[in-house]
Amino acid sequence: TQTVGVLALQGAFAEHCRHLEKAAAKLHKDVEVIEVRTPTELEKCEGLVIPGGESTAISLVAQRSAGMLDALRKFVTVDKKPTWGTCAGLILISSGIYDHKTEKQTLAGTPEIDAHGNKVADQTVSALFGGLDVVVSRNYFGRQLGSFIAPLKLSNFGVSSTITDKEAVFDAVFIRAPVVFKTLNDDVKVLAEVEDPSDPTKKLIVAVEQGHMMGTSFHPELSDDTRIHEIWLSKFL
Ligand code: GLN
Repeated sequence: TQTVGVLALQGAFAEHCRHLEKAAAKLHKDVEVIEVRTPTELEKCEGLVIPGGESTAISLVAQRSAGMLDALRKFVTVDKKPTWGTCAGLILISSGIYDHKTEKQTLAGTPEIDAHGNKVADQTVSALFGGLDVVVSRNYFGRQLGSFIAPLKLSNFGVSSTITDKEAVFDAVFIRAPVVFKTLNDDVKVLAEVEDPSDPTKKLIVAVEQGHMMGTSFHPELSDDTRIHEIWLSKFL
């Protein structure tokens, strides 16, 4: 049996658990899915999903739970165990945040107050878990387009034994979603892009992978479709 965890500090973790269980059953894979709130629970896991929700809230809870922030950082960057961040989860495994309003980029490890005593643009950045060499832009689509659905070609994500149609499309649900503003390393592979609603000539990166890490801007657990969970389990576990 392989144990896969879903970080359950805040956000859409229950839906991810159900999707992972369904996906494992379809693949005939012996997987136990557990909710993770403590370093001891994290230690049992061979892979981890970090759900969508509110990245600031998730990182605050992690900082207040004894040893949890360090345990998460070790899991992704030292032990290099398979980790998939979705939406807020993608923000948390990124290496920095670009604020498209102030056009300021802050990289992980930055203290919340800079040398001049000013607060950094995005305080979430001081408590990122890291692992993925990308800079993200939070809430990129703004108020007008708080949530929307975009069809993404599934074959770019990889394959699983249950997906045979090469043209298959996944209807991705975006909710106050971040985008990958910049990749910092050639190892980062782009899996999906969408058109920028404010500039149709521009493409926005909404799914990436790098080694043991995967990040998606959207919520793959908020529909009946378990295919991206199947691909993740096939590819990374
Ligand atoms: N806007 C949220 C954040 O910045 C992410 C939204 C989501 O996870 N659906 O954390």
